[in-house]
Amino acid sequence: MANIYFSQRSVIWSGLSNFTNCEFVDDGITYYNVESMFQAYKIPDERKQERKQFEKIKPGYAKRLGRSVDLREDWEHIKYKVMLKALRLRFESDKSFRELLRQTGNSFLVEDTTSWHDNIWGACFCPRCREGWAGNKLGVAMMTIRSENFPELKTIKFNYLGKEFETDELAIFVDDNGNTTKYNSIACRNAPNIPT
Ligand SMILES: [Zn+2]
Repeated sequence: MANIYFSQRSVIWSGLSNFTNCEFVDDGITYYNVESMFQAYKIPDERKQERKQFEKIKPGYAKRLGRSVDLREDWEHIKYKVMLKALRLRFESDKSFRELLRQTGNSFLVEDTTSWHDNIWGACFCPRCREGWAGNKLGVAMMTIRSENFPELKTIKFNYLGKEFETDELAIFVDDNGNTTKYNSIACRNAPNIPT
């Protein structure tokens, strides 16, 4: 049982990144990457026509644009669900993403956010963050999508301090507010690495 650490820089697994080119439609808007839809949903539903500005744009631009929108009040409560929805849409329309996710087997997936210190959606391994808590919410979302679509890959067992954990067990520790438990962090930080 090994971890896969993915990021845009990964040689093998960069296709799992939310910045990867793909194409899917949500609510009449065509998105070219998961990041764009995620950022677009910062706009409240009553002004959803404004999400059109996120149509067919590059992920780096979407991320910057997302910082300038008038953030919806319930964003912290819904952002994990938005991420799952965007990933499901990508999964349905992007054959190479489906194949790549299948190829991850039953590995524990961790977004490597080293260099931008994001320990909410991923895990940063810089000297300052290395020993701290990592939420890895994107990794958990990916494993959730994988479990939904490849039941044979559903169970991931790994051993830590003599206790056996499964990813389903880890995934259900993500509550409605997007909070995760320390077990997720333990998995992020301590399972053996494999080449990325
Ligand atoms: Zn860091």
